[in-house]
Amino acid sequence: MTVREKAYKFRLCPNKEQKILINKSVGCARYVYNHFLDKAKENEYQSYSKFSKQLTQLKKEMKWLKEPDKFSLQNALKDLDRSFKNFFKGKYGFPKFKSKKNPKNSYRTNKFTRKSGTTNIEIKYNKIKLPKLGWIKFRKSKEIKGEILNVTVTRTNTDKYFISIAVTEDIEGLAKTDKQIGIDLGLKEFAIISDGEKIANARILKQYEKKIGRLNRSLARKEKGSNNWYKVKNKLGKVHEKIANIRLDFLHKLSTKLIKENQLIVVETLKVKNMLKNSKLAKSISDVSWSKFIELLTYKAKWYGRDLVKIDTFFVSSQLCSNCGYKNENVKDLKVRKWECPECKSFWDRDINASINILNEGLKIKASTT
Ligand SMILES: [Zn+2]
Repeated sequence: MTVREKAYKFRLCPNKEQKILINKSVGCARYVYNHFLDKAKENEYQSYSKFSKQLTQLKKEMKWLKEPDKFSLQNALKDLDRSFKNFFKGKYGFPKFKSKKNPKNSYRTNKFTRKSGTTNIEIKYNKIKLPKLGWIKFRKSKEIKGEILNVTVTRTNTDKYFISIAVTEDIEGLAKTDKQIGIDLGLKEFAIISDGEKIANARILKQYEKKIGRLNRSLARKEKGSNNWYKVKNKLGKVHEKIANIRLDFLHKLSTKLIKENQLIVVETLKVKNMLKNSKLAKSISDVSWSKFIELLTYKAKWYGRDLVKIDTFFVSSQLCSNCGYKNENVKDLKVRKWECPECKSFWDRDINASINILNEGLKIKASTT
């Protein structure tokens, strides 16, 4: 049994007053973040604990900072602290100011148990109790399992509210299976599996391309910054949001299915990196979202005790006959979809042969490292 962290995301349905307080809380968290970032820019970043003391002082001077729940401001400081730590490690660039105009603005509050045993965050049926806000309805589309850690409240610039509830939960590993697969990620099909299955792309963009084109043209005709301009901009935001949701849902379902069915999965990550460098291909790849897919496979494999082998070295997966190892240079030509091996006479579908090679390469790597 292992413990994992998980987040449940739901649409939040605050009433008018709750909306006002959420907007204020989001604003205060942003203010605190930017205020201390500004300070850090003036005289170097010090530490979370120093800024935390200064925050207490600041709250005495600016009474309005006392309105939102206190965890939200502390967490804004913690986020700033993490941004600086990441910057010092060379992981990310220098922290940036948070803008009101970001598509999403949020604050985070922590669960806290009082001496009496009561807690500041509770869930009953389809309502959640949050500090200072009281009970708020939310669209509870699934049961929440596990121990609540914290809750992030998000407001989008399309005026929607969401909560993300972070929990820790115990998970049972899946029963072991013998199945092993290699996956060849493609553009025509999203993925080709070594067992012969071809998984079509969630053809989302095509479906919405016309709509986006129309809205973009309409946006270009509006005066930048005018009310109508913002209206169209909002509509565009909604379409993009919808596309992102459909795509993520597709990736979640597919990665869960593959992890459940197989003990070992091999993917080629170098190909993803190389193809993303090619700007023409990058657009269509971001459309099929390979990187996100690999990320999902990685953490789900960890959760469920499966093996994920990533191939990050170059090898000619499509030219080798996966049966006898003969290298067929003719297959370099992308137009060759099916071919017969001159050596062993195996007849190949180009992509399925490639995914079998990926599986074999992954097994070799695994054997040499364990
Ligand atoms: Zn052969």
